[in-house]
Formats: sequence, structure tokens, C-alpha cells
Amino acid sequence: MRVHHFNAGTLRPLGGRLIDGRAGYLRRSELVCHCLLVDTGSELVLIETGMGSPSVQRPDWLGRPFTVLTGARPALAETAVAQVKRLGYAPGDVRHVVLTHLDLDHAGGLVDFPDATVHVYAEELRALQSPLRSSERWRYRKIQFDHGPKWISYADTGDDWYGFEAVRDLKGLPPEILLIPLTGHTRGHAGVAVQSDDGWLLNAGDSYFFHDQIDPVHPYCPPGLARFERLVQMASTPRKENQHRLRTLRTDHPEIKIFSAHDPTELAQFTQ
Ligand SMILES: [Zn+2]
Repeated sequence: MRVHHFNAGTLRPLGGRLIDGRAGYLRRSELVCHCLLVDTGSELVLIETGMGSPSVQRPDWLGRPFTVLTGARPALAETAVAQVKRLGYAPGDVRHVVLTHLDLDHAGGLVDFPDATVHVYAEELRALQSPLRSSERWRYRKIQFDHGPKWISYADTGDDWYGFEAVRDLKGLPPEILLIPLTGHTRGHAGVAVQSDDGWLLNAGDSYFFHDQIDPVHPYCPPGLARFERLVQMASTPRKENQHRLRTLRTDHPEIKIFSAHDPTELAQFTQ
């Protein structure tokens, strides 16, 4: 399976070194929204959708708190739908979308693929439809789901993937695409594993934010980004446990390419 990597939206939070670990504090950092387009040979599968084309025109699509906090400046050319076209495909040929979770910077582009089947871990769909507390209510943007996505959700994790519980039989998708629950950031957050032509990839979504966080020897996250991570987490213990498991996976299986949603260093390893 051929896999394309792209950035579906740039975030520019203030904080410089506190966010990205590079020199200088009085500047904006750059974070990405790392998406995959998988060409299975017979159809297209989009993994993550970014902020979506309405975010370019409509301030209410993302909401002011998110826009101010993250410095998001959506551009049409960066949206997933524009990137699919740039890669030479028709957006209508995207038959499936797989999401790590339903936050606004991951699910915002669903509206640009209204006919696609949307695969998600069941607990995440429950969190959207029946929020347990206010922090869960505010994080999802109802407006982004008004078009009625064609959900398929999965509760059972009957399979094993390198020691992780996994959902292997995603309806209509080849067995080389799996959901790997990695909860903590949200209630039903999951990674997406893909067996590409170049080996296994694990899109770990927002289960960590900075590339060195899963360094087995010297795990590190810049303090501002670590603070943000704690601020937006739903559950601390599973989040930390899952980061520990990802570190172990990296040690035991360095051949698996693990990456998170917003780290530009990780994205560059695939696009340069
Ligand atoms: Zn995110």
C-alpha cells in the first residue's frame, strides 16, 4: 500500500523554545496536522482530516479559544481536500476516513469527504455523543458534525499488534490498517497502524506531542508543550502509561515508524 504524508494545517502557538525546544522564546512555534492518504490499489483511505476547508472562512468552525491558544491560521492549500487533489487524486475517491479522535483539528475536515465511511473507536464516539463532563463537552465542535458523518465505531479489541490490543477488522478496509487504542488524551483516543510498502507505520495521534517524548533513553517534552498536553488530557494515568508503552515499542521494534500528529520534525522524516 502506498502511503502519502502531508500537513493539513499549521498551528503557530506563542512560546518558542517552550513549545518546540529550539532557540529563542519570543517567537511563534510551528506545529503541523500530520495526515496520511493511503492508496490501497483499489481505493483511498484518509487517516486524519485536519481542520477542514470551512476553517479558512468561518471563525466559528474552530472557535476563538482554540484559534488564540494554538495560533491556527488555516490556509486552503493546506486542507486535506486540497492536498488530496495536489497528490493527483479526486476527493470523491476517498471512501474511508480513519480518525485517532474527534478533536477539532483532526475531525474538522470530515465535512470535505461527506460520502466517506468514518471509522472511529467506539469510546470516542460515545464521548462526542454523551459527554461526561464539561471539559469533554467543549472540546468537540458540534458544528463540524452537523453534516452527519457515516460513522462506524468499534468497541472490541480482539487482536494483538506487537503487544497492543488492536481492532484489525475495520469494515471494508484491508487488514493492514488497524485501530490501536491509546487513551488518555481523550476517552477514546486510538492510534492507527498501517502496513505500508516500507513497513509498519503507527500514527499515534495526540498520544504524545514531541518526538523526544518516546525516546527510550532520554524522554523529553519542552515545558510549555508538556503543560498544554496536561491541560487538554482527559485522563493522566492511561496517557502516561501509553507513552511508556510506545517507548518500549520503539526499543523493541525500531523498524516500526512511530509518529504523532503535530510534530513537524517527525513529518519531515517522511516528506523530505
Ligand atoms: Zn491534535
